[in-house]
Amino acid sequence: MVESVLQTPIEFLKGVGPSRAALLTKETGIRTFRDLLYYFPFRYEDRTRLFPISSIHEDMPSVQLIGWFHDLRFEGQGLKKRLIGYFSDETGMVEVVWFSGIQYWSKQIQAGKKYLLFGKPALFKNSLSIAHPEFELYDNQKPPELALSPVYRSSLELKKSRISNKMISNMLRQLLQNIKSHLPESLPDYLIRKNQLVGRYNSFWYLHFPANQSELAKGLQRQKYEEIFYAQLKALMLRTKRRSENKGFVFTHTTSLKEFYVNHLPFELTSAQKRVIKEIHQDLRSGLQMNRLLQGDVGSGKTMVAFCSILLAQSNGYQSCIMAPTEILAEQHFKTLSVFCEQMGLTIGLLTGSTKKAERQKLLAMLEEGACRVMVGTHALLEDPVVFHSLGLCIIDEQHKFGVAQRARLWKKSHPYEPHILVMTATPIPRTLAMTVYGDLDVSVIDELPLGRKPIITVLRFDPEIQKVFGFVKEQLAIGRQAYIVYPLIEESESLDLKNLMEGYEEMKKVFKEYSLAMVHGRMKSNEKEKEMTRFSSNEAQVLVSTTVVEVGVNVANASIMLIQNAERFGLAQLHQLRGRVGRGSDQSYCILMAQVKASEDSKKRLKLLCSTNDGFKIAQEDLSLRGPGDVLGTLQSGLPDFKLTDFSADVSLFSSIRSEVEVLLEHDPQLRSSEHQPILDCLQKETAYPMDWAKIS
Ligand code: ADP
Ligand code: MG
Repeated sequence: MVESVLQTPIEFLKGVGPSRAALLTKETGIRTFRDLLYYFPFRYEDRTRLFPISSIHEDMPSVQLIGWFHDLRFEGQGLKKRLIGYFSDETGMVEVVWFSGIQYWSKQIQAGKKYLLFGKPALFKNSLSIAHPEFELYDNQKPPELALSPVYRSSLELKKSRISNKMISNMLRQLLQNIKSHLPESLPDYLIRKNQLVGRYNSFWYLHFPANQSELAKGLQRQKYEEIFYAQLKALMLRTKRRSENKGFVFTHTTSLKEFYVNHLPFELTSAQKRVIKEIHQDLRSGLQMNRLLQGDVGSGKTMVAFCSILLAQSNGYQSCIMAPTEILAEQHFKTLSVFCEQMGLTIGLLTGSTKKAERQKLLAMLEEGACRVMVGTHALLEDPVVFHSLGLCIIDEQHKFGVAQRARLWKKSHPYEPHILVMTATPIPRTLAMTVYGDLDVSVIDELPLGRKPIITVLRFDPEIQKVFGFVKEQLAIGRQAYIVYPLIEESESLDLKNLMEGYEEMKKVFKEYSLAMVHGRMKSNEKEKEMTRFSSNEAQVLVSTTVVEVGVNVANASIMLIQNAERFGLAQLHQLRGRVGRGSDQSYCILMAQVKASEDSKKRLKLLCSTNDGFKIAQEDLSLRGPGDVLGTLQSGLPDFKLTDFSADVSLFSSIRSEVEVLLEHDPQLRSSEHQPILDCLQKETAYPMDWAKIS
């Protein structure tokens, strides 16, 4: 690694030293000069203006005033004791009040002196007052710097050690002054000009010390550009590298697939399915390893696409495996595929944590001999004793539930090449996120549902209407349908969730006493879960009470009701997934969102959106802007650390335009050899925040 001044440990900044540095690292993650530079304020207080007191009102954010304190006194007794007084200027006065540290504050204030005060006016008993204002002596000789004042994330520990906002600001000021002539530009000149960006150095000034909104906007524009630019660059370079280097098995034969098409295909494929199967086949015979993401809304028919891919591997003598994140899902895949496999005379196995030892040994032996052609499973597939005879294709369901390292263990089970990889997800991922998280994968989308599917009717109902809702569910049960009733995970604590679910279960047993109920939750042993699920899918139980474990993949065609309790507690994407559990048969299906009357207007608005559309992408886009990328992606562990400023829902057009610029750039200069791209190369090599095994890209 080439040295860069930005990699200097933070303790070497004047005034920091080893102990403060250690604390900073612990509390904020800041280790180096670079980290400090990129420790952007999370908000700004507007101190660009001074207000006359007569003009302030309770709807204003924090305001800045100049005046003097008077009539300070203590009021109240014991815990209610407070320091109270007035702050005045020539135009009027406002009450000021302190509830804690009142002795300390009373001593800080000198009567008759002029102060600069900053605080939020609020209405208290019909008069305006400011609680716990910030203030400092006003110096006529040295008027205050009117600016947007940055606020950095802090912590109790930092405050205790007097690492204040101001101190962070001072550190940054000093750092910026120190590195003025050392900070390399990170973008090529022509892109800076084309996009009218400010230079890198200035952008840090503008973000940490904006004089006004316009400077802040320029700083933001530049840094967002950089975030997106480097993320796209890395993703596209990886993809290029993979496409040019990773050789793969060549699957040219299609005998098994043809046989299946002619003799066993249970329905006409949708044109989206046909297109996607074609895309997959093109990858599989290209001589390069396939790395494809298959996106398709719930019910779009991904399983059939998966099976056709398996048949392509089979036609060429290779085994396949499918890895699912939960046992229930693995079992579901196993069941569905078993039917097709049997028709085709293929042996299929299921390997999960609860596979019995004898069965496991038998399966493993068959797998190693090549007698077992398709293996479905959970994480259990990753274990060392799982050896394939000739693994050619790995299908992964809901990949974001698996870590990268875990997946890599699967790749090692195939020789001499890595297996082809097909990642399936029912989570519609907005383009900006897909480009980032799956940017190095090729993407296929099934954007069409099978014909004849009746759209699910979704309604929002409130708790006073619950009896009517139960009445409706009973009508459906009476004509032979089945219902899911889902309870949310309310508390962090699993036992409270369980209690909530148990109470719900008991209540539902009374409400639906003519019917049998089953129950599934996350804490059950998998064989119990399996037993309950089987009771439901075989229609021995007509109602399934559960937590969100039914979220993905479960498939019971006769279930036509999805009743979701406390729907306001779920994310939109999650609700959409749950809704996808019904509408799988030919009957009209219903999703009933139960909410509390007192739920916030925002939640009601979100739920209404769900009622108005079945389009998963639209919903995901909305969820992204409401709840952020973490929620849309589910349990993606690490988040998106390279993105500090970019807003995945608002900056959509920025993503697309930068993506195109990066594509053009790499097309002309894939190795970044030209001198105008030197800044990029330097940045990738010297700044570790862009981690990339550079040696691999030759
Ligand atoms: P998902 O994409 O959610 O995994 P599935 O593969 O489970 O969807 O398919 C949902 C249902 O639609 C299944 O019952 C499946 O048999 C059926 N299906 C899939 N493709 C078609 C098609 N082309 N025509 C009719 N039904 C289909
Ligand atoms: Mg599925």
